[in-house]
Amino acid sequence: MLKTIAAFDRIGEENAFAVLARANALAAQGRDIISLGIGQPDFRTPDHIVEAAIKALRDGHHGYTAANGIPPLREAVAADLHKRFKVEVSPDSVMIMPGGKPTMFMSILMFGEPGVDILYPDPGFPIYRSMIEFTGARPIPVPIREENGFAFSAEETLSLITPQTRLLIINSPANPTGGVTGKAEIEKLVAGLERFPDVCVMSDEIYDHMVYDGETHVCLLSYPSIRDRLILLNGWSKTYAMTGWRLGYAVWPGKLYDYARKLAVNLHSCVNASAQYAGLAALTGPQDEAERMVAEFDKRRKVVVEGLNKLPGVSCAVPKGAFYAFPNVKRTGWKAKELATTLLNETGVVTIGGPDFGILGEGYLRLSYANSTENILKALGRMSEFLATRKAA
Ligand code: PLP
Repeated sequence: MLKTIAAFDRIGEENAFAVLARANALAAQGRDIISLGIGQPDFRTPDHIVEAAIKALRDGHHGYTAANGIPPLREAVAADLHKRFKVEVSPDSVMIMPGGKPTMFMSILMFGEPGVDILYPDPGFPIYRSMIEFTGARPIPVPIREENGFAFSAEETLSLITPQTRLLIINSPANPTGGVTGKAEIEKLVAGLERFPDVCVMSDEIYDHMVYDGETHVCLLSYPSIRDRLILLNGWSKTYAMTGWRLGYAVWPGKLYDYARKLAVNLHSCVNASAQYAGLAALTGPQDEAERMVAEFDKRRKVVVEGLNKLPGVSCAVPKGAFYAFPNVKRTGWKAKELATTLLNETGVVTIGGPDFGILGEGYLRLSYANSTENILKALGRMSEFLATRKAA
């Protein structure tokens, strides 16, 4: 038998990808599948961004770039953060990453080891816990509650910090709940963190463009008291419909920048050159298509929430951000994962069971409304018929 390290028995996955594979297999058999599963925009990347990548290839950008990314793109990220949030960011603290995920991978790797605690949202993006367990650190869930509008509570978060805590992961707007944590709560957290100067914060703001109902996104870079221990995770995947390009960025404080640069050199050398030029066009070019996508998500959000609230046994809080609804299905009598699996098998509607996002996800489903209104309505119709006729297993 090959000997492997135990950490690989602890690393988890993102079940949304397994569900996607199962849905694709069913579609290949001729089944009519409606995907409200995987979290990616159903739009194409805007044409001017695609053209910029093609031009980069035609212009001969075929080689390695600097490990931290091409300078004009790092400058464009800093300028974009300044334009949107009035924050001063040096391009030298911006690193271009192959997607959003590698920033969580690297930051958890930097702080995680046996004997330390890392706080993460539950329900939350599954890779946080997976990576924490991989490093041998203790995963400490920060409860994200429906009765709190799926925002995190600063008081509860701070109460979970111990002398063992090295890293706190926060995510707003949030996957899988669509929750947005308001400015007052964030400021309470930031003020409280002054008591814990040894705790680093990783703020996952990948959905920062997608906030609704007049909310404005609060970027954690706005708070000088935590700037020297704040890692910002962001990227192009969701905002510009670029999930397959694998393009993201991080802002790293102090010496963490050099750690990340070394990890990049060891791992991927640099990000795909033409994708970086595409990212530059995305940030410096017209924003109307990105804005149109958000407006369209907002319309669908209303359709999905209204439809879910009419389903027997289902209630759905209004999500204020991202493109997910997280309906409470406890009164249907179904366990969430069984409901998701049976819905897929019997109706062809793809959803994700809440427990795939953490222990507190039981009793909920995640629906990504990054699909056409027509398909969303069709899916809701199928779910309605299913729940009216089919008793819980
Ligand atoms: N962070 C959150 C909260 C996400 O939901 C996702 C993707 O679903 C990511 C990060 C990863 O983004 P990327 O596809 O750019 O790696």
